[in-house]
Amino acid sequence: MRFDIITIFPEIFDSYFKESIIKKALKKGLIKVGVHNLRDWAKDRRRIVDDRPFGGGLGMVMKIEPIFKAVAALKRSKIKSQKLKVVLFSPRGKKFNQKMAYQFSKMDQLIMICGRYEGVDERVAKNIADEVISIGDYVLMGGELPATIVVETIARLIPGVIGKEQLLKERIPVRPGRGGRGFIEYQQYTRPPQFFPEKFRQAKPEVWRVPKVLLSGDHKKIAQWRQKHGKIIE
Ligand code: SAH
Repeated sequence: MRFDIITIFPEIFDSYFKESIIKKALKKGLIKVGVHNLRDWAKDRRRIVDDRPFGGGLGMVMKIEPIFKAVAALKRSKIKSQKLKVVLFSPRGKKFNQKMAYQFSKMDQLIMICGRYEGVDERVAKNIADEVISIGDYVLMGGELPATIVVETIARLIPGVIGKEQLLKERIPVRPGRGGRGFIEYQQYTRPPQFFPEKFRQAKPEVWRVPKVLLSGDHKKIAQWRQKHGKIIE
């Protein structure tokens, strides 16, 4: 799967994609990420990509023209059957969730447009983007973090990206057999089974214990406990 990110701050992505699982996935060729400077499609000498808002108001708005050109250039094939989506990030968009991540993971290419300033000319949402996505009900300064989040959420669903492929399957499925993709994100513990905080700080003696059932070896009970102490992600 290929991700293409359109941004005016391409360097933001450098360190993140050079670490850990994403780095390995890129190296193995399981995913491809292209980060593109929007200014490369600005026609004037000063490479301007923003302008004042019609109707007045503070701040600047990203212009449609460079974005239109960038998206046209990045569409790898003009063939209709190619599975491609163009995503624009906006705090007014549809809230991103796991279901969307599954849908996007079936695409061949995802082109993402990162806004900055006071946002993007609305004609981009209306005429260029297939989806307008928000990653939560708060306002960031740009679409670069949302793009990183979307890449990471989708990448881990692509077979082979997560080292132990079992990791995804091992999750307790919700509604198995009904096509439900859901699973439970449950609480996890590791050694030591008993932690004594007073060893590290001045405090009254106490013990922070791992729930007994997890040490019991009773897989049925453990599964029940995890169901109870988890959150369903669908
Ligand atoms: N008033 C503007 C806010 C712009 S914030 C508006 O309503 O669009 C600048 C850019 O940051 C946005 O264009 C968008 O690309 C990104 N952004 C900010 N908050 C976001 C969020 N919660 N989800 C996704 N993108 C967001």
